[in-house]
Amino acid sequence: MLQPVRGTHDLLPQECRQYRAIANSSRLIAQRYGYEEIETPIFEFSSVFLRMGEASDVVTKETYTFQDRGGQEITLRPEGTAGIMRAIISNGLTQKTPLKYYSCGPMFRYERPQKGRYRQFTQVGVELVGVAEPLGDVEVIALAEQFLKEIGLTKGISLEINTLGDQESRNLYRTALVTYLNDFRTQLSPESQIRLDLNPLRILDSKDVNDRKLLENCPVFRDYLNAESEDFFANVLKKLDLLGITYTLNYQIVRGLDYYCHTAFEFVSHQLGAQGTVLAGGRYDGLISQLGGPNLAGVGWAAGLDRLVLLAEKSIDKPCLISIIPVGDTAESQALQMAQDLRQEGLNIDLGYSGSLSKRMKKANSVGASWAVIFGDDEIKSQKVAIRDLKSGLQVEVAFDKISDYLQSKIQ
Ligand code: ATP
Ligand code: MG
Repeated sequence: MLQPVRGTHDLLPQECRQYRAIANSSRLIAQRYGYEEIETPIFEFSSVFLRMGEASDVVTKETYTFQDRGGQEITLRPEGTAGIMRAIISNGLTQKTPLKYYSCGPMFRYERPQKGRYRQFTQVGVELVGVAEPLGDVEVIALAEQFLKEIGLTKGISLEINTLGDQESRNLYRTALVTYLNDFRTQLSPESQIRLDLNPLRILDSKDVNDRKLLENCPVFRDYLNAESEDFFANVLKKLDLLGITYTLNYQIVRGLDYYCHTAFEFVSHQLGAQGTVLAGGRYDGLISQLGGPNLAGVGWAAGLDRLVLLAEKSIDKPCLISIIPVGDTAESQALQMAQDLRQEGLNIDLGYSGSLSKRMKKANSVGASWAVIFGDDEIKSQKVAIRDLKSGLQVEVAFDKISDYLQSKIQ
């Protein structure tokens, strides 16, 4: 039997409804904060991601990269920010800051698939470009919190926050961390040993149990912050307090890439094991200039929709569907036009293709229709149909020209 590619999954209608509902909520909440949707291609020149940092986990081992037929190096996007920043530069938007974007779409990473970790997954995210003040960090965090609240997911999810400080503080810290970890070099997981040379901060994010033990006593960012960075972080926290947004400080939250600075945060659920981070973000002031644009500040986050759907308990009802059930040849020949007219009026109509009354009634139930419009020769003569509420079984007679009015009144 044909199987989907490892790490990909099909979204059958019930799941599609959940994805769509969560994505719609995120779009509406982003809109409330003045963020507009942007969509970039799912593939970019590989150089866009390489410029983000060749040492990053995502770029070194997780990308789907290939040469297209014209010999161009192409990468399926592993995350959304780089492409959006590329679009800002390509479209000459860097003069129009602040820019506030929302996006939603599939991402691709060559990872070891497990629950909540796929090779194609969907992210929603926001980017705020051109705001260097702590207010920017607070705004995107508030947006994230309101989004999770809106989809009913605040219970069991906590906001963890850290600061990486500015470039100067971050460099000081990196040196201290490398000095500390060097003593344990051989005890680190092979992956972290490589990171120690290439991207040591990312070790803080290791999921290896032994690495985690070694990290228990490692230096913490807070001891290496200069006054400016201290101030920035204190300001972010003060404003979060003001909004009543609760958080815990977690000194081990990092974003892997060099251009990240100041605030880093994650919304973490304790129900998904190592895949507990449902939303992650931070400040990336150096990114746009690294991509060849001007020196603009940026802050944003991305949430894994697949993980949010795993946590969402409620299933989403199908939209209300109405089955038309003609009995006999004359009715059969009128049903097509009736279905079309009612669809024109905005109703969702299922017109069975063939079969007896009882077969069609069964089908109407199995497709989850809420109402059936039943008519045969007698009904055509009297110009009245029978409309049955398929949940209660109650049935009423309705004049042909009142079918739409009747159903509309029942549905609202
Ligand atoms: P993790 O530590 O779980 O690997 P990450 O740091 O690589 O996550 P980000 O790059 O910050 O993740 O992506 C933001 C969010 O996207 C994550 O918090 C998660 O919800 C989701 N995500 C990331 N990778 C995957 C994946 N392979 N499958 C499903 N969701 C993912
Ligand atoms: Mg990852």
